[in-house]
Amino acid sequence: MSILDQFKLTGKVAVVTGAGQGIGKRVALAYLEAGAKVVLAARGVDNDNLARTAAEFEAQFPGCSMAFACDVTSQSSVDALVDATVERFGRLDIGVANAGIVTLKGLEKMDLEEFERIQKVNVSGVFLTAQACARKMIDQGEGGSIIVTASMSGSVINTPQKIGHYCTSKAAARQLAKAMAVEFAEYNIRVNSISPGYIMTELVEPLTDFHALWEPQIPMRRLGNPEELMGLYLYMASDASSYMTGSDVIIDGGFTSV
Ligand code: NDP
Repeated sequence: MSILDQFKLTGKVAVVTGAGQGIGKRVALAYLEAGAKVVLAARGVDNDNLARTAAEFEAQFPGCSMAFACDVTSQSSVDALVDATVERFGRLDIGVANAGIVTLKGLEKMDLEEFERIQKVNVSGVFLTAQACARKMIDQGEGGSIIVTASMSGSVINTPQKIGHYCTSKAAARQLAKAMAVEFAEYNIRVNSISPGYIMTELVEPLTDFHALWEPQIPMRRLGNPEELMGLYLYMASDASSYMTGSDVIIDGGFTSV
């Protein structure tokens, strides 16, 4: 197979959580462009991003995607997502546990309820999503690829904003991905994580006061665009990375190198 053919996702089916906007939306688009069928998941409760994104993709790639309202903190909701994927597209090959949240509150002010709310989405949500995908892949008996969106915040503590709760959750998400890589290897299910630096998504765009504070901390002196992560999301999903599992790859413009 030619090297470019190894990156094709033709015949593969992917689930992407947090796909209404931001990084997840771009991952879903990249996978559609590479030939996969894609199920887009988000809660879709506070806004209509999920429906809008699904309509956009339907116009571009008719019959190749589907939106599914799913809260990654609920086991039954995640199980329903995987079942709906297989019902609609017949199988599941790629799972991207991407949904994640953050809040700007220091640890001294944060109460237990809020701390646990973050861990529930960023850690338990990854666990439930990856586990449900892996169970289906094990049933199918043909392996698969699971990708966790972690963060450079799993390796460093960001400043000046106080997001220690988030750093904690992303370090756990990275380790969880490694643990699953080891446990699922016997089923030929690969699990890797991607740790982005500051990326200009709908989440980060409004934090304009911070942009000027972050830029001097980044050797490349700018935030990244979601599109600049997509080569790696495609690589990890595709057969081009068939020997890669348990890896965490940081894409951060050099932030964690200094
Ligand atoms: P966004 O806030 O733009 O998108 C997050 C998505 O997750 C939304 O579609 C949201 O939709 C969904 N979501 C939130 N909670 C849940 C839930 N409980 N169940 C299902 N879906 C949920 O974030 P980004 O695209 O910026 O971030 C995506 C991932 O990348 C996150 O894990 C984030 O931590 C990580 N990351 C981001 C960086 C950045 O600089 N942007 C840097 C490093 C990592 P809805 O509200 O409708 O559910």
